[in-house]
Amino acid sequence: MMDFQAYWLLVIPVFFGLGWLAARVDIRHLLSESRALPASYFKGLNFLLNEQTDKAIESFIEVAQTDQQSVELQFALGGLFRRRGEVDRATKMHQSLLDRSDLTPQQTTQALHELAEDYLKAGFYDRAEALFIELKKTALSDVAIRSLLDIYVTEKEWLKAIDTAQELGGNNSDMGSKEIAHFYCELALIEYSRSNFEAAKKQLEEALLWNKKCVRAYIIQGQWAKQNGEFEKAVEYWLYIEQQSPDYLFLIADSFMETMKQLNRLDEAILLLRGWVERFPTLDLLSTLFKSLLESRGGEVAYQSIKEEFTRNPSLGSLDKYLEAQLVTVAPELRSDLQLIRDLVHQHNVKTSYYQCHTCGFKAKTYFWHCPACAGWDTYPPKRNSDSDSDNQSHTKLSM
Ligand SMILES: [Zn+2]
Repeated sequence: MMDFQAYWLLVIPVFFGLGWLAARVDIRHLLSESRALPASYFKGLNFLLNEQTDKAIESFIEVAQTDQQSVELQFALGGLFRRRGEVDRATKMHQSLLDRSDLTPQQTTQALHELAEDYLKAGFYDRAEALFIELKKTALSDVAIRSLLDIYVTEKEWLKAIDTAQELGGNNSDMGSKEIAHFYCELALIEYSRSNFEAAKKQLEEALLWNKKCVRAYIIQGQWAKQNGEFEKAVEYWLYIEQQSPDYLFLIADSFMETMKQLNRLDEAILLLRGWVERFPTLDLLSTLFKSLLESRGGEVAYQSIKEEFTRNPSLGSLDKYLEAQLVTVAPELRSDLQLIRDLVHQHNVKTSYYQCHTCGFKAKTYFWHCPACAGWDTYPPKRNSDSDSDNQSHTKLSM
């Protein structure tokens, strides 16, 4: 009696399973085809439903060697395995496809592409690269070149990346030139780190040939000049940024102020910086202004200036700076309460203030030229999310 009940307990889920299957597979179609399909096909399906994927693959490969119709099935399973992160299985599936002698040229290309994607996902860049080079001769050449470019960027093979980006050329040339300028900047930084200063300089010149507004190249040139004690030259490079891409000034503001101090041109620098803050009321520029004023003009002047800025552009960031400035001048007996408030605002500000990639939404505390998440170039707007340029938004932020 017990055995009989246990048997039925097994049968019920099987019926449910069949119902599930029928909902997803056109069962009549399957039945009409079934006489044409070899037994290994059903064996494979059975293993798959029982989560015995290894055995399932072996069965499908057995089918594959005999039956042309299973080609699409193998592609589908291979893709499925890769999406699930089972790259070994995906590779095996696609390799067995390539072992077949009955593929059309189009199917062979597709299988090569799938296999290259498997290698890429597994991190076998050399193998993926070899296949993508092969695929450049096929109808998938655009896809192959784009993938090769991604590989070279990941592997930091900048010279190859430059050649490959040039191959892409044509349809998207403006974006291509900007990318190539970045690749030369990367090369320049490598040369500089090896003390090959002349070579480094040449690479930056190349960068500027590809993109004459390459902010990054001007920033680096200025930094190198400053390191060499060529302060006038450094200032000259950075003032190009003021003319060409002023919204990036926050990246050099601190260095700029230090350099101008060395040149005894601090008054002029503070005047410039005030102008920048007025045009781009960002937290970074405001911080530089506060620091410079505090050092050169003392607490009271620094406080008054930041107060002015805060009134003009109220935001969480400027409130944070305003409270910090107030702390410098406040009477000692009021200090501890104010410190408490400032700490709270500051903590909140640090937590909610970030740079954000406009392509993939990745949030970062530091500014990136190359998104670490989606690998896009120049995808970070040159300001923090909290540096709103809309007055409405600033007020909204304050009223919370
Ligand atoms: Zn991104």
